[in-house]
Parts: sequence; structure tokens; C-alpha cells
Amino acid sequence: MFRYPTASLKPGREESLLGGHLWIFSGALQQPPRWIEPGGLVDVKSSTGLFVARGYYNPRTDIAIRILTHSIEEPVDSEFLRRRIRSAMELRQVLDPTQTNMYRLIHAEGDGLPGLVVDRYADILVAQIHTSGMERLQPLLVEALMTETGARGLLLRNDGQARRREGLQVEEPLAVAGEVPAQIAVRENGIQFLVDPWQGQKTGFFIDQRDKRQAIRKYTRGKRVLNCFSYTGGFSVYAALSSPTSSVTSVDISAPAIEIARRHFTLNNLDPEAHHFVVADVFDYLEQAQSTEQQFDVVILDPPAFAKTQGARAQALKAYRHLNMLGMQAVRPGGILLTCSCSGIVGLDDLLGVLSQAAQRLRRSIQLLEAYTHGVDHPVNLAMPETAYLKAIFCRVE
Ligand code: SAH
Repeated sequence: MFRYPTASLKPGREESLLGGHLWIFSGALQQPPRWIEPGGLVDVKSSTGLFVARGYYNPRTDIAIRILTHSIEEPVDSEFLRRRIRSAMELRQVLDPTQTNMYRLIHAEGDGLPGLVVDRYADILVAQIHTSGMERLQPLLVEALMTETGARGLLLRNDGQARRREGLQVEEPLAVAGEVPAQIAVRENGIQFLVDPWQGQKTGFFIDQRDKRQAIRKYTRGKRVLNCFSYTGGFSVYAALSSPTSSVTSVDISAPAIEIARRHFTLNNLDPEAHHFVVADVFDYLEQAQSTEQQFDVVILDPPAFAKTQGARAQALKAYRHLNMLGMQAVRPGGILLTCSCSGIVGLDDLLGVLSQAAQRLRRSIQLLEAYTHGVDHPVNLAMPETAYLKAIFCRVE
């Protein structure tokens, strides 16, 4: 029989947990559980002493407990991790491996494993551990991931600054199982890309844009396309491949990213000389385009998150409005704008509001065509809508 220390809730605080929510804020606890190290496992009980759920505890963070299971019968052990991994793998079977062999395998709370992100690039896994609770499970986790997936290597990218909030070290990337090459050749919707799992941004590629990249193809045939915040040219390659007469300009502030974008063109038998690659600040680039009255048929805006905290929300909305006004001015009348936001605190309605305000101020009319979120490999636990972060809106600007 397994036994875990107990944390008791204040009266009535079990409701959201019973509805599937996976976080307990410190204010909901009767008293902090004693004798538990940060990241240690706990059983959560209601004020009347009934078992509610089981998770891990961290006294340092506002989210005191993250839930792993609602079943009293389920110990948190290797078998538990394997079941969660298998369930996640089953969902990803909707992706055709002959076309797409990179995807998010574990999306934290969305896959019932709070604090863990695992991306799969062909036969290499790249994991990020965000919490002390997951950190303590790491040895079991590495073993479970390797055996369940049959991967050839696993790289830990525990280099995010957010780890400090949990009391964890920010580490250098580390191969904890097998061998991890400096570059992995992968395909997405049949298109070839190269991923650097050691030094690339996040885990190497922005795989949450796969379905939006597929969707852009129909708008870009034979068109002049401006891809702002292009990173390694994900959207750019799709746009260029959509027709031999498409012309694509990729803009990013990162010179290494732009260099790889160029290589991605060559890799897919596109002539980089027929397209433009620009290392620049997008805001400067768009202002310049405005002053020289340069316009495009299709403009893509996929900026980094402008706000990470609720306090920065108003500021972020202003920044999105400014960017979208600049972006819209670069769209020729009747052209397409794809605008994205990966700020969790900015919702779909917020982004639609930003677009509509930007259009009003510019005296242009705007039609909503399509709206997307993250895609199937980034499932969201609907009891926790606050964990959704990506919005992508296609519209036409007259
Ligand atoms: N659309 C990309 C992902 C974009 S991530 C894809 O599909 O892969 C955000 C990118 O914005 C990063 O590559 C980062 O280098 C770049 N970036 C951040 N601030 C910038 C700025 N002010 N001007 C230009 N690029 C910027």
C-alpha cells in the first residue's frame, strides 16, 4: 500500500479539482503541509477528510500543488508515467508519420503531466522540466519516455528562466539518454526542416504553428508574401512552395535564424535568390515599408509573447495594436493578414478586438476568415482554459 503525506483544503475548495482543474493555490490550503520537500508527492483531502486528488507540492510558488491523478488507486510511479505517455502517443497517431515526424508529445497539463513538455523530432526527444515536482520524477520519466517511445536520444532543455521561480537551477542542455545530434532532419506536412535541439529557440522549432502553416498555402500562390518574425522560415518555405511565382520576404532579428531560413529554402529545392531574407527589427522594417509605400499581398505577424503576467496585459494589448496597425499598412487593399499571439493572458476576443480597432483607426475594413489555436498535439484541458496560449487569425483587409 502506498501512502503519501496529506494536505487539507479549506471548506469548499475541492470543487474546481473535482471538475478536472489541476492547480491548487496556496490560499486554498488549510495549512501548508509539513515535512514535505519541494516537489514531494501529497494526497489532497477535503476539509471533511475525503481524498480529492494526488499531486506534488511546492511551498515556494503560488500554485502550491499540481495534480497528477484524481484516483486514490493510482500511485505516482513508473507505470503511472507510462500510462500517461501511452495516452499522449495514441492522440498523436492522427499525424501521418510519412508527412510529419515532429510534434509535441507531452503538453504539460493538457496531457495530464503538469510541468513537463516533450517535443519529438524524428527519433529524438527534447524535454523541458518546469517544476520541482517533475524534476523529482526525472529519473523515472527519462526511463519511461525512452522505453515507451523507442527514441534514440533524449535532450533535457532545462534552460528556461521560469525554473528559478520553482527554486530550480537554470541548466545547460544535457543529453540524458542515448545520443543527440547537433542537427536533426525532420519533416512537417511533407516539407523538410533542420532542427538544432541544443541551441534552437525553445526546443528547436515552433511546432505549434503546423496547422497554420498548412492553412497559409492557399493564400500565397503567386503572391508577394511578408513573413514577420520568421525565425527559421517555417511559414516562408510553405509560402514559397505554394507556387513557383510566389515571392517571400522573411524578417527576423536573429541572424542565425535567418541563415537557417535560407538553408531551409535550398533543402526544399527552392532558390533562395528568388526570395528576400532580412535581419532586422520588424517594427523598423514595417515603418520603413510604410514610408516607402511598399505593400504585400500577404503579411504574417507571429511575434514573441509581449506579456507574460496579468499586470502587463494593458501594455501588451497596446503593443499588439501598434504592431497590427503597422502590419495592416503593409497589406495591399484586398490582401491577407495572418496575425498571431502566443501570450496566454491575451485571449482570442482580445486579439479580435485589437484587429478591429487597428482597422478602424486606419479606416480600413477587415473580414475574419479563419481562427486557429495550437493544433492537436497541444491539447488543452478544458477545465483550465487559462493554459491555452496560441491564437492565430486569418483576415482580409480592404
Ligand atoms: N513564425 C516563426 C516563430 C516565431 S518566434 C515560426 O513559424 O517558426 C518569434 C521570433 O521573433 C523569433 O525568431 C525571434 O528571434 C523574433 N523576434 C523577436 N523580437 C523581434 C523583433 N523586434 N524584430 C524581429 N524579430 C524579432
